[in-house]
Amino acid sequence: MLDRIQKLVTEMKEMTENIAHDLRSPITRIRGVAEMSLTSGKATDEHEAVAGNTVEECDRLLEMINTMLYISRAEARAEKLSPQEVNMAEVIRDACELFRPVAEDKGVSLISDVGTDLRVRGELQDLQRMIANLIDNAVNYTPPHGVVTVAGESNHKLIIIRVEDTGIGIAAHEIPRIFRRFYRCDRSRSQPGVGLGLSLVQAIVQAHRGEISVSSVPNAGSTFTVTLPSASTAS
Ligand code: ADP
Repeated sequence: MLDRIQKLVTEMKEMTENIAHDLRSPITRIRGVAEMSLTSGKATDEHEAVAGNTVEECDRLLEMINTMLYISRAEARAEKLSPQEVNMAEVIRDACELFRPVAEDKGVSLISDVGTDLRVRGELQDLQRMIANLIDNAVNYTPPHGVVTVAGESNHKLIIIRVEDTGIGIAAHEIPRIFRRFYRCDRSRSQPGVGLGLSLVQAIVQAHRGEISVSSVPNAGSTFTVTLPSASTAS
């Protein structure tokens, strides 16, 4: 029975991946046609607006499909850890520098508080995406005058990373659902986003044999904690 369920789950995952993959080409073609009519110089204002809208929607769909495929690939990699060493202290500092102007534009302070050497084994690009997604959410869901702090420390054989914000928080009943694909909490559905960021973060953390947890108080803030095996222990 368990084998049959496992087989069904695997088949469903493969089917979703195939659909996502097959959708990419027609959407790219639709985008191309819309872009051509935008640049032809022959379109009326009304047609230009429709074409511009089509290009934007196609970009959104392509981004969504690419993220879904990226999640599947990260999940598939779970057993094979890259031998490459990555210093998470640098990843965190670089990400904070990148996001600081966006945060400051919104009136949110972004602080990085990391040690000098937080080495893990893994894929640099994945780990950068993981941190970027957590910071992006923290800044997005924190109103002006708030603070986002990204801290990293090494504790025995673990690297512990905390992304803490003073934002809108997450209701207790929604916490178990936020890592599901496409899930968005009631309070954030009116904002842009597709609900794939945390699924991606979780897939990357697990692919690196780590864990992620969240604690949150509505209207006070949230803390996402990621623990990863340090490079000296992961093999
Ligand atoms: P997205 O941000 O695109 O909606 P995510 O998968 O990154 O998707 O997050 C899922 C949901 O979890 C968000 O829609 C939001 O409701 C909630 N969430 C994530 N991070 C935070 C945060 N730092 N503070 C408050 N809510 C958050």
